[in-house]
Amino acid sequence: MPNCPKCQSEYVYEDRDLYICPECAYEWNPNETVEDSDELVVLDSNGTRLADGDSVTVIKDLKVKGAPKDIKQGTRVKNIRLVEGDHNIDCKVDGFGAMKLKSEFVKKL
Ligand SMILES: [Zn+2]
Repeated sequence: MPNCPKCQSEYVYEDRDLYICPECAYEWNPNETVEDSDELVVLDSNGTRLADGDSVTVIKDLKVKGAPKDIKQGTRVKNIRLVEGDHNIDCKVDGFGAMKLKSEFVKKL
């Protein structure tokens, strides 16, 4: 089996026509055309799909490298932008400025 395209988990399994990742709950059809896989799928902590311009809440205190304080749980972040990579949300956090967050640590509002 291939690794999960979203979180790179090795524990992907097959269910009928779909490949399913047990770690991030991502499902995909290996027979789909390549064009479809260009689409960036970013899921929040509940598995809800996020889109550019969404507002989210941080679900746990997050340490910020180089910052004197953490981003507190419950912090609202407006107008996110989805990007490729491990930290897949590009945004501005009040009091911190521009930064990247992991979608698993936020919840869609
Ligand atoms: Zn995964």
